[in-house]
Amino acid sequence: MKVQAPEYIAGIKPYVPGKPMEELEREMGIRNSIKLASNENPLGPSPKAMAAVQQELRKVNRYPEGGGYYLTRKLSEKYNIPPENMVLGNGSDDIIGMLTKAFLQPGDEAIMPFPSFLMYEIMVQVAGATPVMVPLSLFSIDLGAMAERVTEKTRMIFITHPNNPTGSIIKENDFCAFLKKIPEQVIVVLDEAYIEFVRDSSSLYSLSHLKTDERIVILRTFSKAYGLAGLRIGYGFMDTRISSLLHRVRQPFNVNALAQHAATAALDDIDFLEKTLALVHDGMDFSYTVLDRMGLSYLPSQANFLMIKVGNADSVFHKLLQEGVIVRSMTSYGFPDYIRLTMGLKTENERFFKALEKVL
Ligand SMILES: *Cc1c(COP(=O)(O)O)cnc(C)c1O
Repeated sequence: MKVQAPEYIAGIKPYVPGKPMEELEREMGIRNSIKLASNENPLGPSPKAMAAVQQELRKVNRYPEGGGYYLTRKLSEKYNIPPENMVLGNGSDDIIGMLTKAFLQPGDEAIMPFPSFLMYEIMVQVAGATPVMVPLSLFSIDLGAMAERVTEKTRMIFITHPNNPTGSIIKENDFCAFLKKIPEQVIVVLDEAYIEFVRDSSSLYSLSHLKTDERIVILRTFSKAYGLAGLRIGYGFMDTRISSLLHRVRQPFNVNALAQHAATAALDDIDFLEKTLALVHDGMDFSYTVLDRMGLSYLPSQANFLMIKVGNADSVFHKLLQEGVIVRSMTSYGFPDYIRLTMGLKTENERFFKALEKVL
């Protein structure tokens, strides 16, 4: 074989996708399993989004609207942010990729929490830059420690808010203090994939910082609260000097037509969003109550998932699987005692706790 990739590409650990549920069920000889593992919306997609997809389906012989015209305008109205300050992505993953492509080169460093979202590390490595992982402190992002790791090579810092997998948030005051320590030329990416679920009012309000701080990039997604994970669509808010660079590296048709129309419709589906939030918040409160009764410790969370301390996570994961309940073991995230549970429908949550009680 004569073909050669750069060392920094060949050295990347590939993302390992999970098996399709149907495959897993066949292998395990189980049926009617429930998946509470990927922080998806258990209610399905927004009905308005589904209607929009059906409407748009007959037009997929045409290329998508490359500038995301309607969705960008709708987001602009909702958040009072000009369209020039927005970039749409094939999932927010895509925007992480644009950021690392546009701003990082070999020799540069990007700081990120560990454990957190896997994609930051992969994308930074794809750009040939160096990921600098900063451990959590008491299951929360340690902004002080992250600021201390800044060097003259630092170009970007990733902050997950709320954090996946711990569900922790950042307080407004802590974020302001953090920003003061960060040099002007460092981009601060706030990944807010779960922001819609936050109930704690002391939480950082990122949008107010956009106007006053040109380093801030806010990433959001339709994959979680809006139930459109399979369509792949996310968006970012940022200064025009950053967005204009992302548009240079963005693929012209990066967001497909169905996703654009589904997302535009989903933003109008207030009823669906409210139902989703009520379901998740009720599920979370129910879980805390049951866990307290069972005497299990857990991390109270501001997202749509929560980490539960079960002892040997891998073993509990496999036993739950045999009961037809799919969760995520946190072993590869550095927490071998914990599983992560995504809030499901009421019946699914009840089934999870029955199964958990049985396997423990
Ligand atoms: C799920 C998730 C995302 C969303 O990714 P998409 O590409 O928009 O589906 C982003 N960041 C974090 C931390 C997530 O957990």
